[in-house]
Amino acid sequence: MSAIDRTRVLSYFTGMAIRPIITLPDPLLRKVSQPVERVDDDLRQLMDDMLETMYAAPGVGLAAVQVGVPRRLLVIDVAEDEEEKQPLYFVNPEIVSLASEMHLHEEGCLSIPDVRVEIERPASLVVRYTDREGKRQELEASGLLATAIQHEINHLDGKLIIDFLSSLKRDMVVRKFKKQARTTEAL
Ligand SMILES: [Zn+2]
Repeated sequence: MSAIDRTRVLSYFTGMAIRPIITLPDPLLRKVSQPVERVDDDLRQLMDDMLETMYAAPGVGLAAVQVGVPRRLLVIDVAEDEEEKQPLYFVNPEIVSLASEMHLHEEGCLSIPDVRVEIERPASLVVRYTDREGKRQELEASGLLATAIQHEINHLDGKLIIDFLSSLKRDMVVRKFKKQARTTEAL
């Protein structure tokens, strides 16, 4: 049974759904997401769908805007394949402090397939957010989790990993994706 088949079976039982992930050059990726007003069942359904979409991709983080909903909402799970799942839901996340120590990590993005960018970011941070139950939380994160939180919060502000490239390299990537989009439309 492939990973995708397992996910289909799971969605049959739980009512979760995989949503399409938007990719470059979709202009929505550059939009600043608006705050979530309240955590209710509709929002929890969106969070569950986002989580399932992320697992199926597969990825370790997903912002709501990547499934076409420009609201300040993220899901992250950095557990290793063999570990138990550790989903985290961040509603209206805000970074309250960043370490001065930096960490270099090669990042990919589900909205920019097949592109990897080496990015130096603070190695640890403290983030404040509302959780899936609507409770305010504060979390100290380091390693891959700190990287993922910063990457996903960038999405909420319309910022992408290609913005860490030189403008020359960034333009090359954007041109490639615009060309791909045109080819797809033509088919
Ligand atoms: Zn991304």
